[in-house]
Amino acid sequence: MFDHLAEKIPYQTVFKSADIQLDVKRLDLIHTEISGNKFFKLKENFKQAKQQGLQQILTFGGAYSNHIAATAAACQRFGFKSIGIIRGEELAHQPLNPTLATAQKAGMQLHFVSRDTYRQRNETEYQQNLLQQFPNSYLIPEGGTNALAVLGCQDILSDHDLEQYDVISAAVGTGGTLAGLIEKSRPQQHILGFSAVKGDFLQHDIQQWTTKKNWSLTDAFCCGGYAKSSAELLAFMQCFEKMHQIPLEHIYTAKMFYGLLQFIEQSYFKPNTRILAIHSGGLQGRLATV
Ligand SMILES: *Cc1c(COP(=O)(O)O)cnc(C)c1O
Repeated sequence: MFDHLAEKIPYQTVFKSADIQLDVKRLDLIHTEISGNKFFKLKENFKQAKQQGLQQILTFGGAYSNHIAATAAACQRFGFKSIGIIRGEELAHQPLNPTLATAQKAGMQLHFVSRDTYRQRNETEYQQNLLQQFPNSYLIPEGGTNALAVLGCQDILSDHDLEQYDVISAAVGTGGTLAGLIEKSRPQQHILGFSAVKGDFLQHDIQQWTTKKNWSLTDAFCCGGYAKSSAELLAFMQCFEKMHQIPLEHIYTAKMFYGLLQFIEQSYFKPNTRILAIHSGGLQGRLATV
């Protein structure tokens, strides 16, 4: 369905000194709507749904969710129906924001639920109810992370990436993407995650998906938590975009590059380190949230 994609993704060098080189793998350029890591998280799930004879994908998200946007667009592209269970029943009575309007236009059936109901999204009983309400659906969790997503994210890295880079870095939300990178990596490589959320729980979440140890995670650049930002982060983002012509957003990718460049400045990396940063896309939410 989407094989050999990783070989076609463009690279761009954003920092180079005598000691350190930082390249970006531009997953944001894969497709305007299905951009970034979400595409890799979906692809093995789509194969599985097809194998099970299911033509409808059901998943969960908030009103600005990149996962909802990507799922709607990818379902349209690959011939699935899609249902989005969206947090916030009040949204049913308001004009749709750009994320939801685009998802609906792509054919996603939006189903708004209260925050209390949404909280049950990972409970078996609630999921059984949903499957009765929307029969023959293939269920994907919020954020898209499951075992098949981790498997799909392994394909972000090509053989070239395994041979050429010492450090591979990515922004982290649920950790599914980072887990895929870790699983694919070679033992001498280090996988470095920049968390978009605050807290140690992610460490444990990622350990669920991998037994390897060649990785680390920092929340030092999360600016206080999910979707939070600071004047400094936003100023950095503008400057970076202007300098490199690479669009970022403040929830994930800006935090990663902000952290990476600070680490470089602080001589955090050993001399002769080649770093590959994964640009995980997510730009659909940019207009709506900045
Ligand atoms: C969803 C998302 C992430 C986080 O991916 P996880 O697999 O949940 O860690 C990172 N960057 C962008 C742009 C995203 O949309």
